[in-house]
Amino acid sequence: MRLTVLVDNNSNIAHFLCAEPALSFCIEDGYRKILFDCGYSDAFIKNAYQLGIDLSDVTDIVLSHGHVDHTGGLARLQSLYLKISRVGFPICVKRVTAHPDIMKPLQEDTLANKNIPQLCDLFDVSLTKDPRYITDNILFLGEIPVKDETRYRHRDDSSLVYTSPDGLVIISGCSHSGLINIAEYAKKVTNEDRIAAIIGGIYIGNNHENDIKAIGEYLLREHVPAVYPCHCCDLETKLLLSKYVPIKDVYSGLAITF
Ligand SMILES: [Zn+2]
Ligand SMILES: [Zn+2]
Repeated sequence: MRLTVLVDNNSNIAHFLCAEPALSFCIEDGYRKILFDCGYSDAFIKNAYQLGIDLSDVTDIVLSHGHVDHTGGLARLQSLYLKISRVGFPICVKRVTAHPDIMKPLQEDTLANKNIPQLCDLFDVSLTKDPRYITDNILFLGEIPVKDETRYRHRDDSSLVYTSPDGLVIISGCSHSGLINIAEYAKKVTNEDRIAAIIGGIYIGNNHENDIKAIGEYLLREHVPAVYPCHCCDLETKLLLSKYVPIKDVYSGLAITF
């Protein structure tokens, strides 16, 4: 499986790609090409073009949750596909997988995308609270059981998990369900105990040191060999986590093979 960061908050001089406070990954596994989140603007489309990644043959779009920094670019992607198909190039139907509550944004959630576009028939929308396999080895977790009730506002939050020969690769949007909850649920659903890597946003509200410490201790206990915190994960969180596990840099254009 190959994961390419199409857009992230961070950019670097090796690529000169756009950065924005948003997230989008392109995940290639066998003959399927999965777009995990669509960023905020069309930056992920421009970066994909610069990277030579063709988005017209994407087979699946997975949305981690309904925040604008993960779904804002969906309308731009639809416009691109309609433009391509209007000039006569065939566009395959893309299956869109997300939690059903993504369509019911909470008014009080200021980041919730209240205007998720009406998707045309190039998109086959498939909403599920249950875990669902996207490929033989990539699973959409659906609704993640959350013990901490304060996190209830983000019930549409989900993640992908890839079962590699070395263990699980957890791919998260913002980890609003809590990273430990996500990892434990991923282990339970896949029946695999080893975690090979974690990549994605790790959001800690108001930077609670105790929460970060609990995550660090958990990752250490689980012997996670590589963590790629990005997007909404701030520097202080990364520095604290680095006391427990190896922390890797993430930026638009980074490509990793698991
Ligand atoms: Zn986010
Ligand atoms: Zn979010």
